[in-house]
Amino acid sequence: MSDRRTFIKRTALGATLAPALLGCEEVATESVPAVRPVALSTWNHGLPANEAAWEILWQGGTALDAAEAGVRVPEADPRVSTVGYGGLPDRDGAVTLDACIMDHEGRCGSVAFLKNIMHPISVARKVMEETPHVMLVGEGALQFARDQGFSETSLLTPEVEALWRRWKAESGPARPPINVENHDTIGMLTLDQSGNLAGACTTSGAAYKYHGRVGDSPIIGAGLYVDNAVGGATATGWGEAVIRAVGCFLVVEFMRQGHGPEDACRLAVERVIEKNPDWREIQVGFLALTKAGEYGAYCIAPGFNFAVQTPDGGNRLLDSASRI
Ligand code: ASP
Repeated sequence: MSDRRTFIKRTALGATLAPALLGCEEVATESVPAVRPVALSTWNHGLPANEAAWEILWQGGTALDAAEAGVRVPEADPRVSTVGYGGLPDRDGAVTLDACIMDHEGRCGSVAFLKNIMHPISVARKVMEETPHVMLVGEGALQFARDQGFSETSLLTPEVEALWRRWKAESGPARPPINVENHDTIGMLTLDQSGNLAGACTTSGAAYKYHGRVGDSPIIGAGLYVDNAVGGATATGWGEAVIRAVGCFLVVEFMRQGHGPEDACRLAVERVIEKNPDWREIQVGFLALTKAGEYGAYCIAPGFNFAVQTPDGGNRLLDSASRI
């Protein structure tokens, strides 16, 4: 390939590389200061998640440990109705969880349609580390979790059960309305002091979904993707639309081609729009982090926000750019 983009090198060295070193005559080098560590995660509940991740990152811990520890915070928080304990159930009243994790070596683990386990992300990590597989679902995932020593607990809180009963009495819609109340997966991307990336994504999925439905969040490439040579991405929103576009893999590939993180997310949102004629009725948001610590987000409709923590800027919430 010999187009100009081939010659645009994004570098974390903070210095311009000599053309001769790159073996080409014309070089438009974009110097990007290396920022490390970084914790980046979706929605308001990303703030406390980042804090937990930061404790590990700041002490020199791994991106993988940080991502797992970070998303465990909303998983255990009953006030977060879209992740883990206290998550909104499916139409039958069952809370079923999806989660996946990926590290800097491209190793990954995932669980889907998992019931009664407070921390699906930690089960996903065990799948990655203790089995030759990537994904376990349903009864098999639960059996595996039991074998690994995870204890079972009811995830349906009385408050959430009351909401579900009301929804049922009002004979809820076939597809739940898309808004920030029922659509807040936590996806987290971390960059550690050694320059390695990892990611984690965990959710109770779309509220009042069909029993057995699995969304994008536990699907590597759809809800999460990490390539340590380039960057990582995670997704939130209507999972079916994200799966159709293999959204997070796409974001990372756009970054590999030289696009910055927000622009890569924007291009992936455009692809989602192309593939989903009903796009004005759905929300999809992508969040991305590069190897150099740059971050960005883009979504269909206003309302998606994310939390970022860096050494210089502290832990703060930012609004994503949007198409509408
Ligand atoms: N993406 C998730 C799903 O479709 C939902 C969400 O982001 O809240 O399961």
